[in-house]
Amino acid sequence: MRTFKLYNSLTRAKEDFVPKDVGHVRLYACGPTVYNVAHIGNARMAVVFDVLASVMRVLYPRVTYVSNITDVDDKIMDAARESGETIEFITRKYEAIYNEDMAALGVAKPDIQPRATEHIPEMIKLMEQLIARDHAYVAEGHVLFNVPSFPQYGGLSGRSRDDQIAGARVEIAPYKRDPADFVLWKPSTPDQVGWDSPWGRGRPGWHIECSAMAEKHLGLPIDIHGGGADLKFPHHENEIAQSCCAHGHNDLASFSKYWMHNGFLTVEGEKMSKSLGNFTTARDLLDQGVAGEAIRYTLLSAHYRQPLDWSMQGLESSKKSLDKFYKILDDLKNVADIDAAIPDEMMDALCDELNTPKAYAVLNALAKTAAETKTPEGKAAFKKAANILGFLKADPAVWLAQDKIASGIDAAWVDALVAERVAAKASKNFARADEIRKILAEKNIMIEDSVTGTTWRIG
Ligand SMILES: [Zn+2]
Repeated sequence: MRTFKLYNSLTRAKEDFVPKDVGHVRLYACGPTVYNVAHIGNARMAVVFDVLASVMRVLYPRVTYVSNITDVDDKIMDAARESGETIEFITRKYEAIYNEDMAALGVAKPDIQPRATEHIPEMIKLMEQLIARDHAYVAEGHVLFNVPSFPQYGGLSGRSRDDQIAGARVEIAPYKRDPADFVLWKPSTPDQVGWDSPWGRGRPGWHIECSAMAEKHLGLPIDIHGGGADLKFPHHENEIAQSCCAHGHNDLASFSKYWMHNGFLTVEGEKMSKSLGNFTTARDLLDQGVAGEAIRYTLLSAHYRQPLDWSMQGLESSKKSLDKFYKILDDLKNVADIDAAIPDEMMDALCDELNTPKAYAVLNALAKTAAETKTPEGKAAFKKAANILGFLKADPAVWLAQDKIASGIDAAWVDALVAERVAAKASKNFARADEIRKILAEKNIMIEDSVTGTTWRIG
């Protein structure tokens, strides 16, 4: 059987993936906090782990991929207050938008997409276990994790104790036993969202939700935990501490054996931020008529662990690559569709820690072979290789018609001129046929004659 190799952020080494149960692989990736539209960096994470889940589904008989929705958070409460909407309205609205945007990028919905607010009892149980084992304590209505109680803390990010405290960012609250301690539960005032707990009415901190949901839906240890590199500290470090300590484990891998972190995304060389005005969302691009598949192609163009520089030129070149691939498929429309396995060279590239740049080179080579040989085998290999990456699932005719629609050119007008030209040629009126070709060329419309008839395209 083929082995998937991955770089495990926990051991900082490239390893062979060995699932706990070869009959059932269990994946978890931290999902979005739903109070605004997902930016392109969030989309990178979703696309990368979508490809990972697809590869796992080829390699193993059963895969469960869980990615959560954080629907309780102070930023959500702020957004609700500012907009005058209820928290539920805001979170459901942005959850739906997130799922629509990711679907447009060809991201399959995770098998389970649990909401934090629907797992409060599981979080309370975890906190009770942590308190019982002296890893957490209650202070002024808060429940806090005591970091010095877990000497292995920091093992994922490799942060020293001083860095941990600096990383806590917020002013050190007087009720903390240690400056590095972090909040599991905090009290809510009557006007704030809250749930009853053994420690009074309150709401959970962010980290505890992933520990509770991963354990409930996947069981421990999970096989692969993923997320953006920015989540390593403190979020993932805290997830590990909570999940290990609640069960009395010292081994960091007892929560998740493997960790995969995708790299940062910059925009034209700069960090993406609202203040720099280079904040790009998937929704804005889709609204501008950019094809979701071209966004996906761009997001996978760099290796997932490397930084990805987002640029409009990159997006345009992705669109051109996809246009080329769809054109090849369109040219092969009369070649029979047969069933085939995913080509070995494509699986080799993806099983080498999701090496998508290598996979793109393979795809280009397969496209060339398919175009040259025009055989059912060549076409099937090319399509299968594209499909595992989430590409070429659209009807080529529909894809190639996109530009015709987006260009604002009246297709009926072009069709009428093309028909007139065909008739002119049939009656040997070559002067008129040439004239029509020129009229269309001025609008950047190209005519292609073939044995099956005459077609046109932009550019
Ligand atoms: Zn998480």
